[in-house]
Amino acid sequence: MLLTWYHIHARPLPWRDAPEPYATWLSEVILQQTQVATGTAYWHRFLDHYPTVEDLASAPIESIMGLWKGLGYYSRARNLHAAARAVVHNHQGELPILAKDWQRLPGVGAYTAAAIASICHGEPVPVVDGNVQRVLARVFDILDPVDRKAGRDAIRSWSEALISREDPGSSNQAWMELGATVCKPKNPQCGKCPVQVGCLARKRDTWSARPVKQAQKPPVAMTVLFRVSLRQRKNTREWWIERRPERGIWGGMECFPATMEEESAPTGCDGKAILGPFEHALTHRKLTGWFVLDSGAQIAHDGQEKPNGEWVPVEDDSRAWPRMVEKALSELRTWAVKN
Ligand code: SF4
Repeated sequence: MLLTWYHIHARPLPWRDAPEPYATWLSEVILQQTQVATGTAYWHRFLDHYPTVEDLASAPIESIMGLWKGLGYYSRARNLHAAARAVVHNHQGELPILAKDWQRLPGVGAYTAAAIASICHGEPVPVVDGNVQRVLARVFDILDPVDRKAGRDAIRSWSEALISREDPGSSNQAWMELGATVCKPKNPQCGKCPVQVGCLARKRDTWSARPVKQAQKPPVAMTVLFRVSLRQRKNTREWWIERRPERGIWGGMECFPATMEEESAPTGCDGKAILGPFEHALTHRKLTGWFVLDSGAQIAHDGQEKPNGEWVPVEDDSRAWPRMVEKALSELRTWAVKN
């Protein structure tokens, strides 16, 4: 019933036509935190620039980050690149087949691995994303919070029991599609749902309370101080930017030197405030940003310019900045050319 519904109602997405592992992998990574409409354009752009895993592996990370610009969650792009390099250098360019082998690649979790292995190779491993979680929590009226072990285990058991052995790829996609298009968080269209007859939440009218989730901790309030250092080179106004450490917030991205504190006001810098306070929300943090002028931001403890940075024209638009900084860039540029 569900598979029949899927084959009739599935949205025509380009990577579904003739699923191929590299293109499917790209689509899964791009769509992890991105709407389908936006993600599709990026997917085409990536395949045009890097048609094979070898092309992706040999591309400079700066080019990949540039192409990723606007998608956010840049660790996905860095992991994609690292995984492509691992495939080329350690596996002669052969992409894995089994889900467990996909999971050995950087950034490939259980969800992505199961999606590729089931869709491209017919391995019967269930895919559990937020959509599947919601649908199953409703169909079986699961009371355990799905963000805790008992709830996760219940969802996992049901998804393993329900996956089609004949066509696991379509089966996985059908549950995801059902959650994305019919069993939506608000106003599920139960009258059009292929599993409505067996759905306990529909029968008991509990759908609006499923899935149950444990109360999340409130986000931690933090202050970020961005230190902007400027110089004039002939007719060009330049500022100093540096690559952030791979681990941690905005890992590997280029940005003004920045420090983050659990404080309500900036400390540790006497520089003139350029812009602030500037609000930005992350999943677990509520950030308040200040941009300050600091002519020594590029200097390391040894008195030399830091090795992880460079002077770039303030008009340079090719960098992948953290979203928080990107929102302030046009105002900062206007300020920088006047000062
Ligand atoms: Fe969701 Fe309604 Fe279908 Fe149940 S019947 S799975 S609540 S859309």
